[in-house]
Amino acid sequence: MIFEPDHNLASASCYANRCISLLTQHGKEKVMVPLLEQAFACQVVHVQGYDTDQLGTFTREIPRIDNQIGTARNKARIGMRLAGVSLGIASEGAFGPDPFMGIMPWNRELIVLIDDEEQIEIVGEAQGPGNHRHLLTSDWSEALRFAETAGFPEQRLIIRPDNEYDTRIQKDISEFHLYEKAFLTAAGHSRKGQVFIETDGRAHANPLRMKMISKAAQDVIKKMQSRCPACGVPGFSVVQRFPGLPCMDCGRPTRLIHAELSLCQKCGEHKKQELVYGELADPMYCDFCNP
Ligand SMILES: [Zn+2]
Ligand SMILES: [Zn+2]
Repeated sequence: MIFEPDHNLASASCYANRCISLLTQHGKEKVMVPLLEQAFACQVVHVQGYDTDQLGTFTREIPRIDNQIGTARNKARIGMRLAGVSLGIASEGAFGPDPFMGIMPWNRELIVLIDDEEQIEIVGEAQGPGNHRHLLTSDWSEALRFAETAGFPEQRLIIRPDNEYDTRIQKDISEFHLYEKAFLTAAGHSRKGQVFIETDGRAHANPLRMKMISKAAQDVIKKMQSRCPACGVPGFSVVQRFPGLPCMDCGRPTRLIHAELSLCQKCGEHKKQELVYGELADPMYCDFCNP
């Protein structure tokens, strides 16, 4: 999907000419700042000088204490405090198994906007297949194949001896000859010559994740642009989807969505909207006709 900001909305938005703090590192500002500034004609203050890795790292040196949304919220609050503004935005990513079969790598990105003037919180989200994987090996040719499959060097790799918890980490490796050197160093530290290699989850080291962050930013922007029809506060967005669009052949409910409920968290205004993509579902989505 190509994202086209609506410039009429940009100047009409209640976020126009406002200061929004963005506490982030690892290059996420590169995708988030232009999207936000273009959509709202706002000023994004990139807050630096606070190490967000203190709130948890992908490489397990510092475990994340809060859950994903809590961590994003926390970062937004810290950014607001440091910048002295009433609007703050921050993101937090997670890698895990896919929610359907639990076997595919999956990446979910959340972006939270906190608006203290309106006393609301708007959450943007994007999720899809991720690319995290790991390998424990003593065989250099196997390590080389792993790197090629992972998309190294654009996708960075992290290397350490023995297992995922060893603290003798080598990261920010950008070339194959440095990768080989790091592999040999880690193998030398290991009693059995075993090296644990994994994909780097940090945004600047993971191009696929950077794309997901961009999608989540587009989602939060869309919600920030959507105002409540009753009170005008931003963030009027879908909170519930209703499956059960009837099957064209047998008339039974399918898993396809037929309606969405949008809600204003400020005044409680809500609207249920029937979707228009066809009144009946193709039998391919029917559990009875096409089990
Ligand atoms: Zn059917
Ligand atoms: Zn409202």
